[in-house]
Amino acid sequence: MIYYGKQNINEADIQAVVDVLKSDFLTQGPVLEQFERKVADYCGAKYAVAVTNATSALHIACKAAGLGHGGSLWTSPITFTASANCGRYCGANVDFVDIDKATYNMSPASLEQKLKKAKAAGKLPKVVVPVHLAGQSCDMQAIYKLAQEYGFTVLEDASHAIGADYLDTKVGSCAYSDMTVFSFHPVKIITTGEGGLVLTNNEDLYKKLCLYRSHGITRDDELMTHEADGPWYYQQVDLGYNYRMTELQAALGYSQMDRLDEFVARRRQLVARYDELLKDLPVITPHVLDGANPSWHLYMVWADFSKLSIDKVQLFAEMKKRGIVLNLHYIPVHTQPYYQALGFKQGNFPVSEKYYEGIFTLPLYYSLTEKQQDEVVAALKEVLK
Ligand SMILES: *Cc1c(COP(=O)(O)O)cnc(C)c1O
Repeated sequence: MIYYGKQNINEADIQAVVDVLKSDFLTQGPVLEQFERKVADYCGAKYAVAVTNATSALHIACKAAGLGHGGSLWTSPITFTASANCGRYCGANVDFVDIDKATYNMSPASLEQKLKKAKAAGKLPKVVVPVHLAGQSCDMQAIYKLAQEYGFTVLEDASHAIGADYLDTKVGSCAYSDMTVFSFHPVKIITTGEGGLVLTNNEDLYKKLCLYRSHGITRDDELMTHEADGPWYYQQVDLGYNYRMTELQAALGYSQMDRLDEFVARRRQLVARYDELLKDLPVITPHVLDGANPSWHLYMVWADFSKLSIDKVQLFAEMKKRGIVLNLHYIPVHTQPYYQALGFKQGNFPVSEKYYEGIFTLPLYYSLTEKQQDEVVAALKEVLK
């Protein structure tokens, strides 16, 4: 069976984790900081805070941005639900901005329209979460310009996009945002088993992220309400969580970072090959925004099933018979029962809903061979014929 994604672990990755197991620290040791420094330097950001997963990273980032009851967070309907749920964790309202029909990322034009209305109603969002779907940066220049005009925090959900380029920066530089989040789940570009990280250039946000990662507790005199009672002293100055990443995870992440460029280069090669091989099939291959060079976490194509002899359920079944497991990214978040119960309805975000009707994800990962890729394309040709 060929699946849609797969991690790649080599001997150096294994040795890095074994070395930590033989060291004095399994958590809260020196490797975490080395990993954070490495990711920050790679992306050209000042600060990095590594945590248990991207979901907790999004949560503390929202909290650091001051999102709370009565506030609101906007994101794309075409994402994993975590990009929206982080707002709910903070007690805030969540709303969505429809996608661009070519790139499938949050549409700056829809965002602007929605902001104008929200301003008139006195209901501007506190946080906007653009999601870099498949590892392709959103039009961050346009979104950041709107942020300056309307005064919201920009939190990039770059769970798919470590290693991607945007204009003359790496995604994660926060050149056009306040914070950026990565995921290190095994299906993503690099992995720590489970893991996530927040990047920022803002020292104040960085200090808050560190606090919220670990119970709201600090040993930093500057953050305390009075001078320390003694060397043992710490203060809980806010309500935080235990979202700490272990040294084992950080060691794996550090080692995987050495391989990031190689991972992305291979994904780019495979995507160029897919684009070419699928030319004569009745599918729309991904459209790349000017100035973006995606990391390609996913490769999805769109088909107009109303013009094909099979529906999507049949497509998935026929491909599986041929040893290929397709996937689908994503079911529009606003159509999930939890969000429907909050008042969202089918029809609210038509571009996203049309996307969902025709989209499916083909296998793409570092170790996918050209022979396997040919098998995927041959099977698709046979099934869509
Ligand atoms: C994977 C993913 C997340 C959540 O990542 P975890 O590390 O599994 O918590 C959030 N947003 C997007 C877009 C993702 O793909």
